[in-house]
Amino acid sequence: MTRHVLVTGANRGIGRSIAAAFVEAGYTVSSIHRSGELPAGVHGAIADITDTAAVNAAFDALEAEHGRVEILVANAGITKDGLLMRMSDEDFETVLDVNLAGTFRCVRRATNSMLRQRFGRIILVGSVVGLMGNPGQVNYSASKSALVGMARSITREVGGRGITANVIAPGFITTDMTDELPEDTKKQYEASIPAKRFGAADEVAAAAVYLASDAAGYVSGAVLPVDGGLGMGH
Ligand code: NDP
Repeated sequence: MTRHVLVTGANRGIGRSIAAAFVEAGYTVSSIHRSGELPAGVHGAIADITDTAAVNAAFDALEAEHGRVEILVANAGITKDGLLMRMSDEDFETVLDVNLAGTFRCVRRATNSMLRQRFGRIILVGSVVGLMGNPGQVNYSASKSALVGMARSITREVGGRGITANVIAPGFITTDMTDELPEDTKKQYEASIPAKRFGAADEVAAAAVYLASDAAGYVSGAVLPVDGGLGMGH
């Protein structure tokens, strides 16, 4: 039987490319998403990851049809940028609730299945700015750096049960999220990236497929940058 991978937010952007890459690689692929259409071959359940009951119900429904989730790619995330002094409590808390607590809700439910199978791959989509910081993204970078601590604690807690947990740290990738940036800001970012270009979502997907593979069974608690050299591991 093929392994079951669940990707959050596979309706667009990086999540969509990740889900499509797993379909291409022959996995059973499902997604928790809150809107939109999924790529061909991806099974879906509607849920907002800020809602614990909805997340658990979506997992239950997808597992009843397709078997226990063996690989989780926690991809869904948002930005609500603003300078520190002007950032509202709401914009801070909303980003943390989706990017950090939402990821936690999915990880907790997925781990329940993984422990029973004594196999699991947890892949958290962080960001280069979680490690480097970025002006205007105090909320977002805090939420993303926290995923590193989460993956490492998961590794220490359940690493002996065949479960790995890693973070992919993408740099600037062309999606709706970065399309919102002003043109001159994009040009400045491009100039600072050693590769001199934004990345493509399928370049992030390739890293996810690797971390999910049997070949990556001894890689855990790692942060894998996919950033054209922008972060240099920081
Ligand atoms: P997009 O804005 O294109 O897509 C975000 C996805 O997350 C959508 O599917 C969206 O669903 C989903 N989502 C957001 N909030 C929720 C929620 N509460 N419940 C369920 N699903 C939700 O972003 P990207 O594809 O660019 O980003 C994907 C991930 O990669 C994010 O975690 C982001 O932080 C990270 N990342 C992106 C980078 C980039 O340059 N693009 C760089 C580094 C990291 P919906 O369509 O319903 O809104």
